[in-house]
Amino acid sequence: MSVRTRYAPSPTGLQHIGGVRTALFNYFFAKSQGGKFILRIEDTDRQRYSEEAYQDLLDTFAWLGIEWDEGPEKDGGFGPYVQSERVETHRSYAEELIENGHAYRCFCTPQRLERIRQEQTKNKLKVIGYDRHCRELSGEEVQVFLKQDKPNVVRFKVPERGCTVLHDILLGAVKRQNEDVSPDPVLLKADGFPTYHLANVIDDHLMEISHILRAQEWIPSGPLHILLYQAFGWEPPLYCHLPMVMGTDGQKLSKRHGSTSLKDFREKGYLPEAIINYISLIGWSFDDSREFFTREELEELFTLDKLNKAPGVFDYKKLDWFNGQYIRRMEDEKLLALVLPRLVEDGIIHDPPSEDEEGILKGVMPVIKERLKVLGDISELVRFLFHDIHGYDPEAVVPKKLDRGKTVKVLEAGRDIVRRMTTLSDEECEALFREKAEELDVKLGAMLMPVRVALTGTTVSPPLFESIRLLGIDKTLVRIERVIELLNKR
Ligand code: GLU
Ligand code: ZN
Repeated sequence: MSVRTRYAPSPTGLQHIGGVRTALFNYFFAKSQGGKFILRIEDTDRQRYSEEAYQDLLDTFAWLGIEWDEGPEKDGGFGPYVQSERVETHRSYAEELIENGHAYRCFCTPQRLERIRQEQTKNKLKVIGYDRHCRELSGEEVQVFLKQDKPNVVRFKVPERGCTVLHDILLGAVKRQNEDVSPDPVLLKADGFPTYHLANVIDDHLMEISHILRAQEWIPSGPLHILLYQAFGWEPPLYCHLPMVMGTDGQKLSKRHGSTSLKDFREKGYLPEAIINYISLIGWSFDDSREFFTREELEELFTLDKLNKAPGVFDYKKLDWFNGQYIRRMEDEKLLALVLPRLVEDGIIHDPPSEDEEGILKGVMPVIKERLKVLGDISELVRFLFHDIHGYDPEAVVPKKLDRGKTVKVLEAGRDIVRRMTTLSDEECEALFREKAEELDVKLGAMLMPVRVALTGTTVSPPLFESIRLLGIDKTLVRIERVIELLNKR
């Protein structure tokens, strides 16, 4: 069987972790099977369609470096791949269902539907929904209403008895009594546009989709889709509903946990390689230990039998760790090219950067790699190399366990060591700081922190001695003196 998978987003909002996970799994599965990955735009809900969301979808795929084999702008003989361009097809299939008795026109007004909904709620009925009133209209009645141009929708005749089974690759048989399927859902809306269910089933069939990998939130729609395939006399594709995506607290991942849109991750400076790698581990694992995978490796190794039934967890800290690992492994030149625009935009360096600035930055890359979790942190980490520090906060200079007097002592001792740094290795420097710390009876951290703050203006910086050498010993000494003076005032 030739494998054809699809990602079928509705462009109503920004691409998020869950959606991208679905896209990647469909993509990797198709690739690993030598199949095709199709992008289909499900835009038949014209009220909720957003151009911005569509653009974000394109941006996200471009940024991830994921290309579809068939889809918008890339015809593979099954197009168009945008559903709003296929409504004629959807309409004619809806007609077909009316003709063979699986669907019917409903002329009920929104007011009537609202009234029955309220009555059902009041009487606490098990199934809330359409009362199938128009199923009983005679052919003549329908003709009269149509002549009067009465607005109408097309509804599916859900069988009232029997049971429908969806066979899911991961979950096994998902059974549903037909009486529990929503009564007679709309297939074609009054505006002539198909609903999700109709368009989705027709297009999956016509595009010869073999496997549907999608989020578990679509399970409730599954039996209805199977009934539609049966009504058309079509073989349904194979389904695989993917494990849920949770936050570390075991709740469904949502904005409460943090950013979920890929746009946010792009802007903060996560790397596409790290995002692809980490997202692929949500609900899938190759074995018990291996964590690092390139896109090319996943294109080979991804298989459905390695999916987990249990929900997957999205852990922001773990992603940060992954991203940091990918930054460390990156070549200095590539990293520099990635951070440069951010440094310019944040006003840290000139546009274009001066030769001096470029020289410093080249020296910074190997040092900064160890500390950089996301590219967006770069400016604050290197600001001190390009800009003098205006205004120290005396409180920030003084470590928690020390007072001003002691901090001055620490800084003076630090200054004396820094003075000698031209002839010292970093290890020797550290040994001297350690020695002094003991002598002054303070912890090594408390010994180093005031120097760090004097140097950078903040408590987080790249490794201290390397930072000093990057800025220059003389400039560092000036900054230390300045802080000593500040602490001595008052
Ligand atoms: N358009 C649906 C969505 O936005 C597709 C669901 C499916 O994969 O069937 O997720
Ligand atoms: Zn009706």
